[in-house]
Amino acid sequence: MSTVVRVRIAPSPTGNLHVGTARTALYNYLYAKRYGGTYILRLEDTDEERSNENYTRDIVEGLTWLGLTWDEGLEVGGPYPPYRQTEKIDHYSTMANQLIAKGKAYLCYATQEELATLKEEQKAANSAPRYDNRGRELSEVQRKHYQEAGRIPSVRFLVDEPQVVSWHDHVKGEIAIDTSDLGGDMVIVKSNGVAIYNFAVVIDDVDMKMSHVIRGEDHIHNTAKQLLIYEALEHKAPEFGHAPLIFDLERQKLSKRKHGEAVHIDHYRVLGYMPEAIVNYLGQMSWTHPEGKEIYDLEEAAALFDLDKVSKSPAVFDLARLNWFNSQYLRNLPLETIVERAQPYLTAYDTSLYSKAELSQMVASVREGLTTLAEIGPALSFYLTAELAVSDELKSSVLNSDNARKVLSSLSSTLASLPWGDHQGCKKAVDALGKELTLKGKDLYWPLRAALSGKTQGPDLGAIISILGAERVKSRLESALNH
Ligand code: GLU
Repeated sequence: MSTVVRVRIAPSPTGNLHVGTARTALYNYLYAKRYGGTYILRLEDTDEERSNENYTRDIVEGLTWLGLTWDEGLEVGGPYPPYRQTEKIDHYSTMANQLIAKGKAYLCYATQEELATLKEEQKAANSAPRYDNRGRELSEVQRKHYQEAGRIPSVRFLVDEPQVVSWHDHVKGEIAIDTSDLGGDMVIVKSNGVAIYNFAVVIDDVDMKMSHVIRGEDHIHNTAKQLLIYEALEHKAPEFGHAPLIFDLERQKLSKRKHGEAVHIDHYRVLGYMPEAIVNYLGQMSWTHPEGKEIYDLEEAAALFDLDKVSKSPAVFDLARLNWFNSQYLRNLPLETIVERAQPYLTAYDTSLYSKAELSQMVASVREGLTTLAEIGPALSFYLTAELAVSDELKSSVLNSDNARKVLSSLSSTLASLPWGDHQGCKKAVDALGKELTLKGKDLYWPLRAALSGKTQGPDLGAIISILGAERVKSRLESALNH
C-alpha cells in the first residue's frame, strides 16, 4: 500500500468502554500494524452534558488493559489527554466561519421551541423529522430582528438535495446515500459555540491526516454527511470501512439499555476474563483467520488482518463462545501470568503463607477447570483454608462406609512412603493402594477427594495430595476418619 496509514479510535466519553468500541479499536489497531501505520486515540468529548472524566478513564484504562495501546497522543498512564475535541472549540468555529464565507453554511436563528413545533407538525403529518431549511433565505431585516430579540444562532451546513453521495467502502463495498435522507441542512456549531460531532470529526480527521476511517456501520449516514463537508472544505476525504454491528443471540443490537453492564469491557475484566481472550474473541467475531484458526494473538492477527476479510453481516455476541475462548487462555497463558492475575481474587485468603512455587502448583492444578479467574478463589479454597469444612451431605454419602474408612486409613498409613512433590507418583501410589484393597473409581477416589478437598470433583488427586503435603493430608484424613 502506497498511502501512509493513519487510523484512529475516537470514542465519545459518554459511557464506559463498549464492547463494540473495543472491537472497532481492535480493527483499527490491526490495520495500522498490518500496514506499518499509526493508530491514534482521540476523545470526542464535545457533548459536554454527557461526557465525563470517569468514562474517559474507563475507556483509556480499558483499551490499555486489552493491549490496544495507541501510537500517538495520550501517554499510557500519563495525564489526560492530548487529543480531545474540547481543546479545539475555537478552531472548529474558525473553520465554520470559513464555510459561511464560502456560502456553504449559514447562521440559523430557529429556537428550540420552533424546531420542536416543526417536529410535532411532521409527526402529525406522518412525515420523517427533518429541518425544513427555513434559515437559508433569511433577509437582512429578519436576521437583524432576531439578533435584537437576543436569539443566538447556530451554524448550519447547506445540504444540497437531492444528490447522491457514494463511496467505495472497504468492508461493505459500494455505498450510495441520497442527501434527501440526511434530515436537511445540518447544525455544525451549536448556538453555545460548540461544534457538533459530524463537523468536528471532519476537521480532526483532516488535521490528523487520517488515511482511513474504520468504524461501526451505524455511522454510514454520518459518513455521507461528512463527505459533503470534506467537499465543501476542499479536502480529500479518507477512505472508509464500516464494520458490522454486534447483535445478541436474539438478533438485538448490543445496547446498554437492553444488556446493562454486559456491554462494557470493564464488566468482563472484573469477572476475571483474560484481555487476550476478549481481543481474540472480538477479532474473530467478524474477521476470519485465513487458515481458519480460532486461537491467535494480536501479533499474529496484525500480520494477516485486512478489511476486505471483515464480514458484511452482523456479528453475534455469544457469551458461551467468549467463555470457551477464556477457558482456552486460562489453561494456556504462562502460569506465572495466571498466578499474578489471580491475586485480586484471592484476597479472602492469606496467600503469604505459601511460597510462589506452592501457589503456582495450586493454580496449575485447577486452571483447566476454570471459565473465568473469578472462579479461582472457590477452586483454591481447600488448599488455602486451614480447617477444611466437609459438608454433612458428603460425610454421609461418601465418607460413611467401611470401604471409605479402609481407603482413608490405608493412605494414612502409607504417608511416609509417598513420593512427595511428584504428582503423578502420588497418583500411582493411590492406584496401587486401590489394587490392594480391590477398590477403584468412585469407591477409591471419592472418599479421598472428599476428605482432602471437601469435593468429589476437582484437580488431579495426585496433585491434591502432593500440594497439600504430608502434614495436612494426615490431619485431613484423620478428621475424616473421626467425623
Ligand atoms: N465518537 C464517535 C463514536 O463514539 C466516533 C465515530 C467515529 O469514529 O467517527 O461513535
